[in-house]
Amino acid sequence: MSRAPGTGGGSEGGGASARGDDREAGRGEGDRGTPEELYARLKAFEGRAGTVGGVGKDLVNEPMIRHWCEAMGDTNPAYAGKDAVAPPTMLQAWTMGGLSGHEGRSHAYDELLRLLDGAGCTSVVATDCEQEYLRPLRPGDEVTFDVVIESVSERKTTGLGTGYFITTRMDVRAAGEPAGTHRFRILKYAPAGRSARRGEAGPAAGAGTTDRSEVGGSGGGGSGGGGSEGSRSEGAEGGKGARGDRGARGDRGPSPVRRPRPVVNRDNAGFWEGVSRHRLLIQRCDGCGTLRFPWLPGCNACGCPDWSTVEACGEGTVHSYVVMHHPPFPAFAEPDRATGRPGPYAVALVELAEGVRMISNVVDVPYDRVRIGMPVRLLFRRMDEELELPVFRAAGERGR
Ligand SMILES: [Zn+2]
Repeated sequence: MSRAPGTGGGSEGGGASARGDDREAGRGEGDRGTPEELYARLKAFEGRAGTVGGVGKDLVNEPMIRHWCEAMGDTNPAYAGKDAVAPPTMLQAWTMGGLSGHEGRSHAYDELLRLLDGAGCTSVVATDCEQEYLRPLRPGDEVTFDVVIESVSERKTTGLGTGYFITTRMDVRAAGEPAGTHRFRILKYAPAGRSARRGEAGPAAGAGTTDRSEVGGSGGGGSGGGGSEGSRSEGAEGGKGARGDRGARGDRGPSPVRRPRPVVNRDNAGFWEGVSRHRLLIQRCDGCGTLRFPWLPGCNACGCPDWSTVEACGEGTVHSYVVMHHPPFPAFAEPDRATGRPGPYAVALVELAEGVRMISNVVDVPYDRVRIGMPVRLLFRRMDEELELPVFRAAGERGR
């Protein structure tokens, strides 16, 4: 209950990675002790504050509510108009630190994660979140919040590996009144039977979306002085798992920085196995026959968990696209023809002939020639010695 000491209030840009310079009482990585001693040290974090007196970066406001509702497809009239309230599920949105990071965080949470890193629990996955709503939030409300490390579980073995569940509780207030509670739980674990290089799994929300490896991910260090993004690691909240790319940097050539590795898991392993055989496999529900992509454990149409696969014929059209200019992600960029430097590149939502859509790159076409409706054809492109990806090129050069 009590707000324990240790609310240092330091501001941190990066988040919960194994960096930092505060080190308590010589607790280095090798100093683990027995499992019982480790557990006792983990339990000592219960009740410690993660954030005290946090303040939302924006007042509750109509534009964020509108964007949220559009993204979610939520047309509830309560969220628009003169007496609008914010969707309750936006609770966490008002407290998030954004790319510039949190302010007012204590070091306790980072210390806890570092202790687990030192014990070999180097991977993290967000497992679940619970929210309780106590008061509607309305445009103009100022949100404040406190975060406490509520519990650390005993050592548990799961399908992913062995580790500890950590639950944090955020108490959110508006105008000083309790507005809601947000509990967030992660599993910090040592991966079972895998090379540690595969590293951190993404947050649960991102699990299994194979297209994320195409458009998401943070770029590595970047040639030409492209900054230091490769060191950003967001741990439990971001989970992008940027790592390791910096060692592969070069100055020229089609792929000076390696692409982030896809997160391969039980739900999408079949997709990547297909890619390794140069087959683009789509899931088909055994219950209702609906095709789906990206791969998911169950059918969104009928809920059936059983599925088989259909091989895509490889034809498609550009349903939509964006051209990435900023921020620069050299790992994704095609070299600019004039300068040889990483240039802008097109990311397309391709509608396959089978009807499902996937995100990928359109290659061998200048980025400014990509058009909606452009017919494209699948090919598999080798990115580096261990990564091959399905991409698309213009079919028959009909890009207007
Ligand atoms: Zn179905």
